[in-house]
Amino acid sequence: MTATAPSTAISTAIRHDWTLQEARDLFELPFNDLLFRAQSVHREHFDPNEVQVSTLLSIKTGACPEDCKYCPQSGHYNTGLEKEKLLEIEKVVAEAKAAKGKGASRFCMGAAWRSPSKKDMPYVLDMVKQVKSLGLETCMTLGMLKENQAKELADAGLDYYNHNLDTSEKFYSHIITTRTYKDRLDTLDNVRKAGMKVCCGGILGMGEDEDDRVGLLLQLANLPQHPESVPVNMLVKVKGTPMENVEDLDPFDFVRIIAVARIMMPASHVRLSAGRENMNEQMQALCFMAGANSIFYGEKLLTTANPEADADMELFRRLGIRPEQREQCASEEQEEEAITEAVEYEATRHMFYDATRESAAS
Ligand code: SF4
Repeated sequence: MTATAPSTAISTAIRHDWTLQEARDLFELPFNDLLFRAQSVHREHFDPNEVQVSTLLSIKTGACPEDCKYCPQSGHYNTGLEKEKLLEIEKVVAEAKAAKGKGASRFCMGAAWRSPSKKDMPYVLDMVKQVKSLGLETCMTLGMLKENQAKELADAGLDYYNHNLDTSEKFYSHIITTRTYKDRLDTLDNVRKAGMKVCCGGILGMGEDEDDRVGLLLQLANLPQHPESVPVNMLVKVKGTPMENVEDLDPFDFVRIIAVARIMMPASHVRLSAGRENMNEQMQALCFMAGANSIFYGEKLLTTANPEADADMELFRRLGIRPEQREQCASEEQEEEAITEAVEYEATRHMFYDATRESAAS
């Protein structure tokens, strides 16, 4: 008897008309068939052995007025998190310069806000301008944006904006009551209208069902333009949040969602984000196989532990994965060296939080 390939032809086209049934059907495929398809799609759009590596600086931590049930930064829960005011611009610029000197090409800044206030906007805009003037790509997550705020940020030079949908529209009110799904979609629309790139994903393992998981992907994949970056987080259960005792997600379901995201948004970077510290190396490798091609590195996410940076690089070496090339690096060796230096730097700088900005004003 001969082995057979999955029966349906593999389409790698970019589509915006996915149906819930199609998404469900993908999720329900036998695991090997699903991974084969995802890997096939992945290879059409990306180098399968490259993974983008990002870093993040929390510019304002804790005391957020929103009530996201997973988030230790929410002022509604007592998680013992130390609150911080907005960092001074000089400090942010100094960190950005240092990061650039160590090889970073994109600098992500996150603040735990419902939305930026009128008072804070000038500081934030100045941060963007000054970081941008260093020749770095800029990314921010500041909560909801009005049309004029998005435009101001874009005019200041902001390249990317992170704003997560978190879960399906149906399940959203179980997770957050201080804003609506439509509020999120409106901000995404404002970001696009202003001409910025979008980073938008969600969190798995919050007690949602399978339809909520594929429902999130359906929402993202049917946006008029796919987010350039799709962070997929595994819930980090933080003591003191309402989700500290929620049931664990089946790790294979997590890998399946990565694979379905890859198939439905073939040209987006799918980011393996928060929760990586709870994944063993084999599971991370499966996620890369399923089409994940971006990670945050370093000792922390915004507020949750993350695998050590050197462990990440060691895993890359063992898997033959290279950090995604950046323009200013003339060779693969230089690139790897720059990343390794940046990783070492991160390990000594607690202000940098490696990994998912998804728990910041996302
Ligand atoms: S996820 Fe973002 S918006 Fe929600 S509580 Fe945390 S910091 Fe605030």
